[in-house]
Amino acid sequence: MVGWILKKILGSKNQREVRRLWPMVARINEFEAAYQKLSDEQLRAKTEEFRQRLAGGETLDALLPEAFATVKNTCRRLIGKEWSVRGRPYKWDMIPFDVQLIGGMVLHQGRIAEMATGEGKTLVATLPLYLNALAGNVHLVTVNDYLAARDAEWVGEVYKFLGLTVGVIQHDQPPPLRRQQYGCDITYGTNAEFGFDYLRDNGMATSREAQVQRGHFFAIVDEVDSILIDEARTPLIISGPSTVSTHQFDKYKSQIAELYRAQTMLCSRLVDEAKKLLESRNTEKPTDADADNEERAGKLLYQVKLGMSKNKQLAKLMETPEVRQLVDQAELNVLADSSKKDMIALKEEMFFVVDEKQHDADLTEKGRKQLNPNDPDAFVIPDLVTALEEIGSADIPDAEKEKRKQQVQQAFDERSEKIHNISQLLRAFCLFEKDVEYVVQEGKVIIVDEFTGRLMPGRRWSDGLHGAVEAKEGVVIERETQTLATITIQNYFRMYKKLAGMTGTAETEATEFQNIYKLGVVSIPTNRPIARKDENDVVYKTRREKYNAIINEIVECHRKGQPVLVGTVSVDSSEVVSRMLQRQKIPHNVLNAKYHQREAEIVSLAGQRGAATIATNMAGRGTDIKLGAGVADLGGLHVIGSERHEARRIDRQLRGRCARQGDPGSSRFFVSLEDDLMRLFGSGRIGNIMEKLGMKEGEQLEHKWLNKSIETAQRRVEEHNFSIRKRTLEYDDVMNKQREVLYGFRNDIITGDNPREAIFEILGEVVEARVAEQCLANKPTEEWELEALARWVNHAFPIGLRLDQLAHKTSDEIRQFIIDRVTKAYEAKASHEQPDTLKSIERLIVLNAIDRLWQEHLYNMDQLRAGIGLRAYGQRDPLVEYKSEAFAMFDEMMASAKNEIANNVFRSASSLAAFENFLRSLPMQLSAPDVSQQSAFGGLASSAQPAAPAGGDVVDKAIQAASTPVKRDVPKVGRNEPCPCGSGKKYKNCCGKNA
Ligand code: ADP
Ligand code: MG
Repeated sequence: MVGWILKKILGSKNQREVRRLWPMVARINEFEAAYQKLSDEQLRAKTEEFRQRLAGGETLDALLPEAFATVKNTCRRLIGKEWSVRGRPYKWDMIPFDVQLIGGMVLHQGRIAEMATGEGKTLVATLPLYLNALAGNVHLVTVNDYLAARDAEWVGEVYKFLGLTVGVIQHDQPPPLRRQQYGCDITYGTNAEFGFDYLRDNGMATSREAQVQRGHFFAIVDEVDSILIDEARTPLIISGPSTVSTHQFDKYKSQIAELYRAQTMLCSRLVDEAKKLLESRNTEKPTDADADNEERAGKLLYQVKLGMSKNKQLAKLMETPEVRQLVDQAELNVLADSSKKDMIALKEEMFFVVDEKQHDADLTEKGRKQLNPNDPDAFVIPDLVTALEEIGSADIPDAEKEKRKQQVQQAFDERSEKIHNISQLLRAFCLFEKDVEYVVQEGKVIIVDEFTGRLMPGRRWSDGLHGAVEAKEGVVIERETQTLATITIQNYFRMYKKLAGMTGTAETEATEFQNIYKLGVVSIPTNRPIARKDENDVVYKTRREKYNAIINEIVECHRKGQPVLVGTVSVDSSEVVSRMLQRQKIPHNVLNAKYHQREAEIVSLAGQRGAATIATNMAGRGTDIKLGAGVADLGGLHVIGSERHEARRIDRQLRGRCARQGDPGSSRFFVSLEDDLMRLFGSGRIGNIMEKLGMKEGEQLEHKWLNKSIETAQRRVEEHNFSIRKRTLEYDDVMNKQREVLYGFRNDIITGDNPREAIFEILGEVVEARVAEQCLANKPTEEWELEALARWVNHAFPIGLRLDQLAHKTSDEIRQFIIDRVTKAYEAKASHEQPDTLKSIERLIVLNAIDRLWQEHLYNMDQLRAGIGLRAYGQRDPLVEYKSEAFAMFDEMMASAKNEIANNVFRSASSLAAFENFLRSLPMQLSAPDVSQQSAFGGLASSAQPAAPAGGDVVDKAIQAASTPVKRDVPKVGRNEPCPCGSGKKYKNCCGKNA
């Protein structure tokens, strides 16, 4: 009832929105009627006219009716014209319908136009794209390369007719070609290509010429739910092989495998025991003892669920609604106990516990003892905070305190690394099933995408998990990769000045679009009424029964000649259906979103008489299915869902593939209690309903109630997934701010005309900080550490500073003196250089420093992010902790970058090649442990010595020194000890990175 009222209200709000746009449709059509009298040239001239009116101060909004009319009229003129689309002949036959004009307006307003499949969104997008391209480079974002190219070729003729250029980004294009595509007025491409180009432009390109994009003005995202919601779960990452590898999977693998075996055995014992208890009951006349046995059995099975939720025997037993209920009841009882005594007792008997929903696995006391009988505490996270506090308040000298703190910290790091390794291995064993979550091919572990069933070679689970799975499978553990640049899809798309989207299914996710992207959703009415019949779901107890029923239904359609499209959630179930159809000798096609172009062609024929097509839900996206001759009389295309998907949206997407443009069509979903969705989220209530409706073995059930409760389960998963995405975003927001600052700074350097100014600003800051540090304002001048200051100055700059030059000065005067000398020296040096070369060198000095340190920072942020979960033990909000630490780390990173820049300003040569060589050799130079003794520009100048000559040959010497690799005997330093270079970082994260 409430839902109905709500729908009424929401519906009418949407209707009002749409109604408000109709007068504009009339205006567009009036203009269009008038344009019919124009010659082609006159129509084409509109583009230039609009541009001038824009320049004269008119707004895009004001131009909309005329611009849309211009596009519509162009479409009319193209009717019957032929060209090729993806290599196949095509004949234009589209003039935008009125509802399409409305869709176009919604897009122009920066909102999401929800338009059913087959309503012609490709054409709709041309209207706002043309209008907005008058003012800047506009992007159309698609889900795959094939669609980007197809759409650009398909509707590109409209833009070309009007004198605009169209570009397409494809995966394999080299940068110069990309740059050309972005140079066009309108650019089509996938979200990943757009995002990666952004990262490369801003995080890697070292000159303006190497950047390919031209800003983020307006984007329309096609299949917006798929891109902004499904794909947004994994951020875009550019990575390279990691320089450090810390995993110890080899070391623990056999132990964990052993533990896993022990737990498996334990679980079988528990299941057996439960079975016996259940069998011993007197089903005719249940006694009190029987009730106790039932309860006990439920508890045992629940225990198995805790320890091994994917246990096969358990799954088998849970097929019976009665058993399922017992387990649910046991769970409720245990959870209801506020003292958690029962829960603790249950867990205590296990070696580890698994939380399938949270994707977590954790050792128990018993497991820890098993792994390390002598020291079970070896796998407990130590209480770092208390330990540090204790040391802090202890009555010992400061130096001793420092030493102990470092020891504690080191022990903590080692132990958490160990625990991390073990819990990743546990997850690999318990939660990741071969041939479900991943496959092993040619000695590699390849991820299977959970939504599409696609194999995703090259992608790796993060945080070492992939290595753990490799260890489990006994294949070579590949080197972990390190993030070089990363951005979430959300944050990429938030950069656009204006963003819009279109899809057949946005409504169920309207809140998320609003919250995260500030995108409102407007449902556009279809051109003709929808004639699709959605049948009730049919529910079976087991998968087997379900598949049999699916096959029967396909056979029946096939006999009539009615085409069928079967949508599955995974490659696995596609294959099951396919095998069963083969047995029935029914010809069919199987698609799993691997070959976009070919699949699009096959799907486009899925509406022909007698066709049977099996597709995972991404296959053939964006291709509409036209009905073959006579098929309408058979009821049109019949869509079968082999399983309800986690999100209702994807189910609607599948249903929407039939009954396009007022065609007849029907859809039905088949569900079994063994489906993951039912197993994890739907259990109790659905079991109850089935009991109430009196379901018996081998029967099917079909009822409105069931649809409802399945949707409730789906809604729960949707909410759960939304909260995960939101959480990811909250973390990324921290990074996002940092990225903005850093990329902004970087871009100023690349595009600014005077990099030297920036360098001197940095020099000023660095010198000021040094002086402030060594000439403390609250200390008498005799205590100032002038010698140290001079040593640093002479190390960094070739100005031969003498101590007596610093005497009798205020700190301000000292600072000014140093900066003046440095400026003079730099001018002297610059006078020998080619101004343009020098500019490039200056840019490189800055970029080199910030890029290197930023990458290191990204690595550290990854570590921080991975470790921050452990802090939750301290009852502090990990996000707050993360924010404050991330902030401090960023500050430190920027300070180090500036220092490095200051240090490198004079270490440059007149030839760019020589300088690049020099930069390459630099880390070696920086990692020399005894920097304090050796100035790069000669030793510390004593007051008696003449000042070292500035510029020229000193620099040359430094370059020479740098380009012959210096090999020093570095004293052995522990990986977790502080780095001897004095950076304050651990050795392994600093100079020891390559060790
Ligand atoms: P969507 O992306 O909304 O699912 P498409 O852009 O793929 O839809 O178009 C679906 C089909 O509708 C295409 O075959 C196209 O030719 C047809 N179509 C779209 N708009 C029109 C129109 N105004 N007149 C005639 N056919 C149209
Ligand atoms: Mg489309």
